[in-house]
Amino acid sequence: MSSPAFEELAGRIAELGRQAHLRGWVLGTSGNFSAVVSREPLRLAITASGADKGRLGPSQVLEIDGEGRAVGGGGRPSAETSLHLAVVRARGAGAVLHTHSPWSTLLSDAHAGAGGLAIEGYEMLKGLDGVATHRHREWLPIVENTQDWAAAAPGVETLLKERPEAHGLLIRRHGMYTWGRDFAEAVRHLEVLEFLLEVVGRSGEKEGTWPR
Ligand SMILES: [Zn+2]
Repeated sequence: MSSPAFEELAGRIAELGRQAHLRGWVLGTSGNFSAVVSREPLRLAITASGADKGRLGPSQVLEIDGEGRAVGGGGRPSAETSLHLAVVRARGAGAVLHTHSPWSTLLSDAHAGAGGLAIEGYEMLKGLDGVATHRHREWLPIVENTQDWAAAAPGVETLLKERPEAHGLLIRRHGMYTWGRDFAEAVRHLEVLEFLLEVVGRSGEKEGTWPR
C-alpha cells in the first residue's frame, strides 16, 4: 500500500516527464526522475525502466528502498537507479532528474578531455541555488558512460563529495544529472542548466568553433 507522499510525488514525476519530453530532453524512453519519499528508512519514487516519457503516468513510477529494490508502485527499477541513490547520498538531495538532451549529449563529448564543462558570465546562473551573480563559474564534471552503473555509482558519489559546489553532472555522449533539496528546486535547476547548455552550445556554433 503506497503512502500519500509517494502518490503525490508519482503524479509530479509523471507530469514532469511529459513536459520534459515536449522540450526534447527525454525523447523515447530516455531519462529518469526520482524524488525522496522518506529518509528513515530511505524510500524513493522513481520512473520505471522503459517508460515512454511522452505518455508517462503515475502508474509507471515505482517506490524503491535504499538498495534500489522495488517496494511498491509499478514496473522495474531503471538501470541508473544506483546513480540516483548515489546523488541522494552525496548531496542529501530531495529529487534527482536525468535528461538525454541534445546539448548535454554534444557538450559532454566536446569537453570530456577537460573532465568537465565550465559555464560563467550568464545571468541565468542565478537560478542555481546559492548563486548570486552572473560572475559565478559553474563546473559540471563529466564522467564516462557505462552500462554498469551499479559498479560506477560509488565513483560518482566520491566525485560529487569532492565537488560539493556542482549543481549538475554530465555523462559523456549520454546526458545530464541535476538535483535539488526538493522537487521544485530540482526542476528549476533542470530548466536553468538545460538553458545554459543550449546557450553555450549555440554560442560555439555562432563563433564557428562548433562543431569541432
Ligand atoms: Zn540515461
